[in-house]
Amino acid sequence: MKNCPQCGQPRQGEAYKCPACDVFYSQLDEILFEEQERLERNTFKGAVKRIRAAEDSKQALKNELTTVWRNTPLKTKIVFWTVIAFVFVLVVPIF
Ligand SMILES: [Zn+2]
Repeated sequence: MKNCPQCGQPRQGEAYKCPACDVFYSQLDEILFEEQERLERNTFKGAVKRIRAAEDSKQALKNELTTVWRNTPLKTKIVFWTVIAFVFVLVVPIF
């Protein structure tokens, strides 16, 4: 569809939704949009976007980190803690 089904405004470039009424141009656009959202949800870029869009960005960052941590496999966590411990052991004697 080339025009918004609600207000009839012509489509703006590759946008999925009409900027004026927040309505999808077609059902296909809705599917494509959701697919893009789904893919973006799992990327760093998507996380940054969500944090910036959130009103309470500090809380949003915390939520993102919690989600990332929850999705991290145990093996990765162990490696992560080992690295932290290693750095800690190296750095602490300096102070
Ligand atoms: Zn519209």
